[in-house]
Amino acid sequence: MSTGSRHGSGDQQASPSSSGRRAGPTSFIHFNNGVSVYRGKLDGQTVIVKAYEALGFDGLLREITAYERLLYLPTVPKVVGVFGPSDMAWAALVIEDRGISLDSEQHWATLPLQDRVMIYDTAVDFHLAGVHHGDLAARNFVRDKEGRLSIVDFGHAVVGHACEPDVCPELSDLRQNLGL
Ligand SMILES: [Zn+2]
Repeated sequence: MSTGSRHGSGDQQASPSSSGRRAGPTSFIHFNNGVSVYRGKLDGQTVIVKAYEALGFDGLLREITAYERLLYLPTVPKVVGVFGPSDMAWAALVIEDRGISLDSEQHWATLPLQDRVMIYDTAVDFHLAGVHHGDLAARNFVRDKEGRLSIVDFGHAVVGHACEPDVCPELSDLRQNLGL
């Protein structure tokens, strides 16, 4: 029975954007420090959507800057886009979905040596590219169905970092946490 909608497209608020992209249903992942994270579909691709409240825009800018700097690294997801309302009450960063957080599997000190070495090599790569992550933890590494690891969440990152990996504090802490 009709409910009297005159728009013919149901009661969903979402609508195709002017670029003709199609968004699919989203599922909530978590909320922390004013940032809500969702998994959704865009043009048939699974994506991660991080919605920042205005108070957290500093973190959003840090993420965008770091992702741009690390565009060429295969272990870092690509940014699909950034969107928000015209009043900028919030803004959302959309990145490729690279899988499930390691934190939901096991603590990283118990990961196979091969994974721990891969995590460390990934961190060295982005340090050499001039990025200090600022929040290196198992929850910020994700693994896809093929077993490939990626690093995410650059909300505390500093771009312009220069270091010698053997003596860099963040990398030294990481080696210790990984038992390397
Ligand atoms: Zn460093």
